Amino acid sequence: MRIPLVNLERQHAALHDEIRPAIDRVIDRSDFILGHEVTAFEEEFAAYCEVKHCIGVGNGGDALTLAIKGLGIGPGDEVITVANTFIATALSIHHTGATPVLIDHEPHSYNLDPRKLVAAITPRTKAIVPVHLFGRPADMDAINAIAAEHGLSVIEDACQAHGARYKGRRVGTLGRAAVFSFYPGKNLGALGDAGAIVTNDDQLAAWLRATRNYGSTVKYHHALRGFNSRLDSLQAAVLRTKLPHLDEWNEARRQRAAQYRAGLQDLGVGLPAEPADSEHVYHLFAISCPNRDEVLKHLRAQGIDAGIHYPIPIHRQPAFADKCLGPRPLPESESSAEQLLSLPLCPFISDAEMNRVIDCVSEAVQVGEAKTRSHHAMMKT
Ligand SMILES: *Cc1c(COP(=O)(O)O)cnc(C)c1O
Repeated sequence: MRIPLVNLERQHAALHDEIRPAIDRVIDRSDFILGHEVTAFEEEFAAYCEVKHCIGVGNGGDALTLAIKGLGIGPGDEVITVANTFIATALSIHHTGATPVLIDHEPHSYNLDPRKLVAAITPRTKAIVPVHLFGRPADMDAINAIAAEHGLSVIEDACQAHGARYKGRRVGTLGRAAVFSFYPGKNLGALGDAGAIVTNDDQLAAWLRATRNYGSTVKYHHALRGFNSRLDSLQAAVLRTKLPHLDEWNEARRQRAAQYRAGLQDLGVGLPAEPADSEHVYHLFAISCPNRDEVLKHLRAQGIDAGIHYPIPIHRQPAFADKCLGPRPLPESESSAEQLLSLPLCPFISDAEMNRVIDCVSEAVQVGEAKTRSHHAMMKT
C-alpha cells in the first residue's frame, strides 16, 4: 500500500460529478481566455478571502513578481523574505530586478522572525514578503508594525495558506497584497498551473488586470508594457467547483494534524506547534527529527511518500549564492533543512493510512535510538 504525500486521485474522485460538467461548460462557451469563469472565480475568491479584488494569473510565482512590480519595486531595491521557503518566493523577487534579502525564521513557527527584521533593513529596502509556511500564518502584527515604522510594503506569500486565519482575519487581508498559487497539490489546487493576487488597493488591482494581459484592458490598446500571465477559464471553472469545499477540507486537515500530534507525542520528535491566535491550515505537517534522513529512508521503503521542505536553504542554492543578501549564517534555516520531514497529510488520507505512518515513524525513531545506544555501548568497551 503506497501512501502519497497528497492524494489528489481521491479528491478528484469525490468531485467527479462537479468537475466534468464545469469543464463542459467552458468548452460549450469556448471563452477560454479571461472568460466568464475567470471573472466569476475572481469574485468568489475575493469574497472568500474577505478582500476587494482578486486578479487571476498564470501561477503563484508570476503572482508574486507582478504584485511586487505593481508596487513600483525593481532594480536597486531590496525585498526581505525567509531563506526556508520554496525557491519561487526568492526567484519572483529576483525577476522584478530587486534583490532578495534572506533572513531566518522563528524556531517554533517556521515563519519569518520579526526580531531579525530590523537588522536586515537598509535604505534600499522597499518591501517584506512573509511566507505563511506550511499553512501557518506568520506573525503579521509584529511584521506590519515594523513595516509601518520604516515605510515598507508587506506582500503575503499565501501560496501554502488558502483560507488560514490570523486573529480571526483571513490571510490575504493582512498586507498591501497577497499572492496565492493553485498548483495542484496546494490546499486549493487547479488541474494545472494557476495563481492569483488579492488586494484592497484599487490602483494596484487595475495595474495588475492590465499587466497580466499584455498591458491592455481594451483589445489592441496598450497603455502599459505587460506580460501574458492569465488564469485559464478551464482552471477557473475547476477552482470554482473546489472553493466551496475549501473550509471543510481545511478543517479535515486540522483534525488529521491533531491525530498525528496525539499519535506521535511520545516519540521525542519535534511536532508543529498549534498556534493560539490563528488557524493553521496544515498544507504540510512537518515533524523535526535529528536522524531525519534515516527516518525518511525507512518511510520510503514502506511505500510512504514523506517529503523534505526544503532540503537546501535558498542562500545555498547554486542559482542564488551571489544573487541574495542578508545576515549569515542562518542557523534556523540550516537546522530546518537538516531535520524537517513532511508526513503525508490531506483531507482524504484515511485513519488506517495515518496509523501506518505513525507506526513507521515510531519504528524508525526506535531503530535510530537503538543504534545510538549500541554506538555508545561500543564506545565504552
Ligand atoms: C507553491 C509556492 C509558490 C509558487 O507557486 P507556483 O504556482 O508553483 O508558481 C510560491 N511560494 C510558495 C511558498 C509556494 O509554496
